Amino acid sequence: MNSSKQAIELEEKYGAHNYHPLPVVLSRGEGVFLWDVEGEKYYDFLSAYSAVNQGHCHPRIKEALIEQAGTLTLTSRAFYNNILGPFERYITSYFGFDMVLPMNTGAEGVETALKIARKWGYEKKGIVENEAVIIVAENNFHGRTTTVISFSNDENARKNFGPYTPGFAKIPYDDIPALENALKDQHVVAFLVEPIQGEAGVYTPAEDYIRKVSEACKKANVLFIADEIQTGIARTGSLLAVCGNCSCEGHCEQQPSYTKPDMLILGKAISGGFYPVSAVLADEDVMSVIRPGQHGSTFGGNPLGVKVAMTALEVVRDERLALNARKLGVIFRQRMQVLVDQYSILKLVRGKGLLNAVVVNDTEESSTAWDMCVALKDNGLLAKPTHGNIIRFAPPLVMTEEQLHECCDIIEKVVKDFSK
Ligand SMILES: *Cc1c(COP(=O)(O)O)cnc(C)c1O
Repeated sequence: MNSSKQAIELEEKYGAHNYHPLPVVLSRGEGVFLWDVEGEKYYDFLSAYSAVNQGHCHPRIKEALIEQAGTLTLTSRAFYNNILGPFERYITSYFGFDMVLPMNTGAEGVETALKIARKWGYEKKGIVENEAVIIVAENNFHGRTTTVISFSNDENARKNFGPYTPGFAKIPYDDIPALENALKDQHVVAFLVEPIQGEAGVYTPAEDYIRKVSEACKKANVLFIADEIQTGIARTGSLLAVCGNCSCEGHCEQQPSYTKPDMLILGKAISGGFYPVSAVLADEDVMSVIRPGQHGSTFGGNPLGVKVAMTALEVVRDERLALNARKLGVIFRQRMQVLVDQYSILKLVRGKGLLNAVVVNDTEESSTAWDMCVALKDNGLLAKPTHGNIIRFAPPLVMTEEQLHECCDIIEKVVKDFSK
């Protein structure tokens, strides 16, 4: 098995068709680069949907994984293990929360937060059993479980997967009056929201949106849950998107621009791209509603996963990835703005840090963005359209300024070719 064609045929024949991949077959990664089975080299501009912020096969994370893999990998939570406690102390102090509940995938992290919020609503807020309501935003993306797709409004993600889980109310994103109105319902326990909507096409809300969300929730005695699975871990130029305009390496609670959520959901890049880890962070008054036997996962908090996660977070801090994402993001959007101004095929560029998107001037049903991504691939850069006419650009955060300029040159060339 060696050619791209063969590998694609195998996936087509034996794998469920639940994805529509770009036609490239990758076999190696290092830092910001990926190589295909034919040996062609590419810049990665997806970073596995922001799960590889530290770059591919980061040597320090790899070492931690190998060492732990030869020592102890899985005990289940039926027993204590010697890595979980230190990890829990590390991640809670890193993000400034009392406690953490570790899981594996992002969707599990979201499910965990929803369960905690409901239980908090019944036991702390005194809501009548089975009547809790959780507010979500339109065009959200929080994963693929039955409950999570129940409050999606992506038809493709929902259709024929019903009946849907009740107990969710949807409001427009970036709309404080709509939130305030929804919060009038006494049954509301939480508002679950992405500080920037990634999958929807990198929608950045008003500068003060998150602060106002937090204030409105506090006033209504409702939990503000931030899903930072994609935006967190330095991606948007600060440790978390809720940090606002601060790119320090942690101790967020001391920063004036920081808005502390009542629950923080992390996933993707706390894996360093190696091993799935997700986590829900909260303070003791919220987290304490969960008691033995009420939630868990065989693999959640396993020594291998948490060792990897702790090292992945150390890398983010030691290599000052938030600062780099911030700096490079400004350059990227400046360069893209020049293209937007010059070529009518591009409508606009938006984003924060190194989570950016370019909107192609065509319909959502058109294949222009897809065709451009294929052309980008042929020129050595891998990116993927989202929602038809939007291309997300999210390279690993270990990129250098020189590399970024080279990537912008590639994008410029493709845009020029498409404008002929
Ligand atoms: C990717 C993502 C999820 C789901 O994570 P999985 O690991 O794919 O289950 C949830 N929320 C957001 C904002 C995401 O970007």
